[in-house]
Amino acid sequence: MKSHAKAVVIGGGVVGCSVLYHLAKAGWADIMLIERSELTSGSSWHAAGGFHTLNGDPNVAKLQAYTVQLYKEIEEISGQSCSLHLTGGVMMADTPERMDFLRLAHAKGRYLGMDTELITPSEAKAMFPLMDETNFVGAMWDPVEGHLDPSGTTHAYAKAARKLGAEIVLRNRVVELTQEVDGTWNVVTEQGTVKAEHVVNCGGLWAREIGRMVGVELPVLAMEHMYLLTEPMPEVEEFNKSTGREMIGVLDFKGEIYTRQERNGILLGTYEKACKPWSPVSTPWDFGHELLQPDIDRIAPSLEIGFKHFPGIEKAGIKQIINGPFTFALDGNPLVGPVQGLTNFWCACAVMAGFSQGGGVGLALSNWMVHGDPGFDVWGMDVARFGEWATLRYTNAKVRENYSRRFSIRFPNEELPAARPAQTTPLYDTMLANNAVMGDSWGLETPLWFAPRGSEPKDVVSFHRSNDFGAISEEVRATREKVGVTEIANFAKYEVSGPGAEDFLNRLMTNRMPKTGRIVLTPMLNEFGRLIGDFTIAKAGPRGGEERFMIWGSSAAQKYHMRWFEKHLPKDGSIRIHRFDQTLVGLSIAGPKSRDLLQKLVDVDISTKAFRFMDFREMAVGGAPCMVNRITYTGDLGYEIWMAPAYQRLVYKAIKEAGEEFGLVDFGMRALLSMRLEKNFPTWFRELRPIYGPFEGSMDRLIKLEKNDFIGREAAAKEQAEGTKLRRVSFIVDAADADVMGDEPIWAKVGGKDYGTVEKPHGYGAPRFDASGKEVRGSNAAEGASAVRGIVDGDWRVVGWVTSGGYAHYVEKSMAQGYVPAALAENDSAGLFEIEILGHRRPARINVEPPFDPSGEKMRT
Ligand SMILES: Cc1cc2nc3c(=O)[nH]c(=O)nc-3n(C[C@H](O)[C@H](O)[C@H](O)COP(=O)(O)OP(=O)(O)OC[C@H]3O[C@@H](n4cnc5c(N)ncnc54)[C@H](O)[C@@H]3O)c2cc1C
Repeated sequence: MKSHAKAVVIGGGVVGCSVLYHLAKAGWADIMLIERSELTSGSSWHAAGGFHTLNGDPNVAKLQAYTVQLYKEIEEISGQSCSLHLTGGVMMADTPERMDFLRLAHAKGRYLGMDTELITPSEAKAMFPLMDETNFVGAMWDPVEGHLDPSGTTHAYAKAARKLGAEIVLRNRVVELTQEVDGTWNVVTEQGTVKAEHVVNCGGLWAREIGRMVGVELPVLAMEHMYLLTEPMPEVEEFNKSTGREMIGVLDFKGEIYTRQERNGILLGTYEKACKPWSPVSTPWDFGHELLQPDIDRIAPSLEIGFKHFPGIEKAGIKQIINGPFTFALDGNPLVGPVQGLTNFWCACAVMAGFSQGGGVGLALSNWMVHGDPGFDVWGMDVARFGEWATLRYTNAKVRENYSRRFSIRFPNEELPAARPAQTTPLYDTMLANNAVMGDSWGLETPLWFAPRGSEPKDVVSFHRSNDFGAISEEVRATREKVGVTEIANFAKYEVSGPGAEDFLNRLMTNRMPKTGRIVLTPMLNEFGRLIGDFTIAKAGPRGGEERFMIWGSSAAQKYHMRWFEKHLPKDGSIRIHRFDQTLVGLSIAGPKSRDLLQKLVDVDISTKAFRFMDFREMAVGGAPCMVNRITYTGDLGYEIWMAPAYQRLVYKAIKEAGEEFGLVDFGMRALLSMRLEKNFPTWFRELRPIYGPFEGSMDRLIKLEKNDFIGREAAAKEQAEGTKLRRVSFIVDAADADVMGDEPIWAKVGGKDYGTVEKPHGYGAPRFDASGKEVRGSNAAEGASAVRGIVDGDWRVVGWVTSGGYAHYVEKSMAQGYVPAALAENDSAGLFEIEILGHRRPARINVEPPFDPSGEKMRT
């Protein structure tokens, strides 16, 4: 074994081998994989080997599509067969709600280049005759589904990587990881120490233990999982003979089962409700090629439904039940990327569907390591997406919930209960007493809306408008006409200080930094000129002679942004970034009476001139030391008030008492989001994501190309000079009783006109080079955009996609935001657009100006 390597990949499961292959393919020569035992010695060897492309997150779906198309490539390079069976598969809906869910998934597929099709139960039965189709109301067909040989596939990656020069060391456990002052990792193994620049945790079932070697508790847990194999079945053989085809894969939501042909019989697996974690605290190092004891009682309820839905299978003898563990993160998606706070320590773990996702994970991670950037939008699997609140026990509760709900519908207004409450603000009990319906916002309990007194504070989950509608309307109306108060602890808050803080921020942000006491809004770009942040920044008075800035941003992106900030901090330690998290909480008051209310609580003049729109001031509010921004996301006259948690109750009480004479109401997050819609304000992670450029995102006025050289400036200047293909726009939709949720297709009546290929971007063309120096940009499916495949219906064509929307209660309109070709973005003609909501196309019209206070006068008064 060599003693030095550029990168050491720990773990020889399907994921580690894929990472190794992609690093080798990207041209890294000096790389090695270290495996404790033999390849596939974790969960990879006993997987059911199924693969599919569908995923709730379109970007993860794209990576799954890449994985599937990669198999041919690794077979060719390695000479090792993956035993690919591309059978196609169906998802069966047993209720109208489930059919709505499939319609949504199908609609998303329209612009993602997927060939899904909605079919009848009888059509599904023709491809899988073992089912009783009368149990179902409809189905969705996906041709890109199938199964493969897990062991062969893992070896194919490994052999291909070896052929490209990578080294694989077997039967050698990594026992310790330490880091030198210069950043070099000491990878201490049973056979000696390897000095490495980069370490990758592909430890699968032991990923948590490897994390602990570097002081990180990764939110990952292994669950037991069972599938059964039947004896050969004459019906299967007969079907194969008469059709010349293999039976397809079937996913039955109601039964929580998946099933497909395996040799001459059937394989049937369950995601049972009574699920069971495996080794919940630590994984034994001596666990090898072993199976767990099957527990038929646990899966009996699923089997009972399964046998009813697929009576053909009930008759077959069971040959074997496989029970094996595999890992999940809280939301079922992988944990990929550099771990914030560490240098050159990378993760590619918690990959619960290694044979659907392993290729995409390997590609993303190798791009990130080799080129400094994953090259496409991988937020859905970024290891930075969970906070410190995702502790061992939290993870245990959430993973169990996620596993048991794997085939359940998640409604757009559904808040899941496990591991809650985790974090609460001092106002938590008060909000509950106020009949708040609470939601989980990055681990923090946050009021969503306030149910009328005497009614149960509970959402009725639905794809349609629900029981919160009337209450939110009232919250919005009272706020817009008088004044409302809401909690805003669920924002990210940072302080940047030290000599040169302003220059540092000017280098990171697209807008000019504010003068002392003023606020700016500013996007942040990566080197490729793509949006990676959207912040509110205030310049506070100097402390100890040092420059000081306060920054507010998206709560969920805190670790993602900290990772970026830390990467760009000067190495001399002159600039400090403090992330407050929940050590700073907030309240926002908004509405025409908010100034009169606040004036009663402060001892300084806050008249229009004395405390202008976009001013920042440190002042006592109701006797508590606070920071106050004259700005609000409602787009009205309003204030954000920030304080230490110890003062939050005091300030809230003062606001409530002073607000009585003005008709103050409490409002929740949903009212806030409704109000931002009627101002055409975008949101981070919906309208604004790393797949969009700042001009595409219609952020033009916040991009100051002339101010100084900032990260992404050159690419942004190019985007502006060349003009964008896409543009973010806002719509008013003639909806019925359901509003958009996000990802719906936008149709336009374009007749014979050609607006070019409309593309939903995933990658952003990060330049990449292979070992010979040849550019490999956009060379594979995952990096390219999904062409909207010219879905045509007469004069109508799908031209774009929705990012978010809902009901704008004050203007009483259903609204949506999304991306369309730039040439259509200012065309507000009636009859030009339709947006597909739950399978029904509804007329929509672009509204260029926000319907509420288009001139912005109200927030400036
Ligand atoms: C019953 C069952 C059915 C499944 N069905 C499917 C399916 O149909 N489709 C699908 O896509 N997925 C399926 N899966 C999941 C799939 O198996 C996993 O997604 C995949 O195996 C994860 O691969 P991995 O490389 O991340 O982890 P693992 O396979 O666990 O590999 C991790 C490797 O790291 C090594 N390692 C750990 N620590 C160290 C150390 N300190 N030093 C050296 N080496 C170390 C281990 O020995 C192991 O070989 C199934 C899983 C089970 C259990």
